Amino acid sequence: MYILLMGPPGAGKGTQAERLISDFKLPHISTGDMFRAAVKAGTAMGKEAKKYMDAGGLVPDEVTIGIVREGLAKPECAKDFMLDGFPRTLEQAVALDKIMADMGKKLDAVLNINVPDSELVSRVTGRRICKECGATYHEKFNPTKVAGKCDKCGGVLYQRDDDKGETVLNRLKAYHSQTEPLFDYYRKAGIYKEVNGLQDIEKVYQDVKQALGKA
Ligand code: ADP
Ligand code: ADP
Ligand code: ZN
Repeated sequence: MYILLMGPPGAGKGTQAERLISDFKLPHISTGDMFRAAVKAGTAMGKEAKKYMDAGGLVPDEVTIGIVREGLAKPECAKDFMLDGFPRTLEQAVALDKIMADMGKKLDAVLNINVPDSELVSRVTGRRICKECGATYHEKFNPTKVAGKCDKCGGVLYQRDDDKGETVLNRLKAYHSQTEPLFDYYRKAGIYKEVNGLQDIEKVYQDVKQALGKA
């Protein structure tokens, strides 16, 4: 299955992806995770991407499409994959169709996790991530058993730089203006599905599985 997780910053894409990965072993390609890894490694691409990420804008299509093309060519993505946070522009969506067509593949489903802006700011600003394993928590909505320590591996939690202040609002703006137009693109392709992300994490997961025919 080739699927795509969409939704605004803080909708719960990563949280739901963690569950799908552990239950169905779907290879996961998150452009946000790839950019953060490049920033951490200090590569030239990472330095370039960081400028846009810090401002809450989108990294240019050229760069983003390039890293996804490389990711999808990996043997582990031959049979299944789940893209998370890509595409975010119409140009990326068109490029993805082309990359997949060249591989003789077609997207099966696009799943939008729908959450209103009023809820997203508190989700994003309360997000905490494990430095060691990348697991995602929330200081109020999904806290660790021991404060500041990952339940899965004991790693220390941190807050993403772009999960603070003004940047969050800029990311929401970018989402509405550049990413939302993709809904129509995928509706026309007949593969668009939506789940209500304004429910507790387990309920959202039940709906996600149902929408993907995996319940
Ligand atoms: P979130 O999980 O909050 O939606 P991500 O981790 O997916 O955020 O992305 C973090 C940042 O990385 C984005 O704000 C953007 O700067 C950059 N980024 C991630 N995916 C893309 C993409 N498909 N196109 C352009 N920029 C991207
Ligand atoms: P995204 O990848 O879409 O940006 P995340 O999965 O990182 O979103 O979730 C954003 C924050 O909201 C995290 O702190 C996460 O623990 C929390 N969260 C995710 N899903 C829910 C939910 N259904 N209800 C409340 N909080 C949630
Ligand atoms: Zn951890």
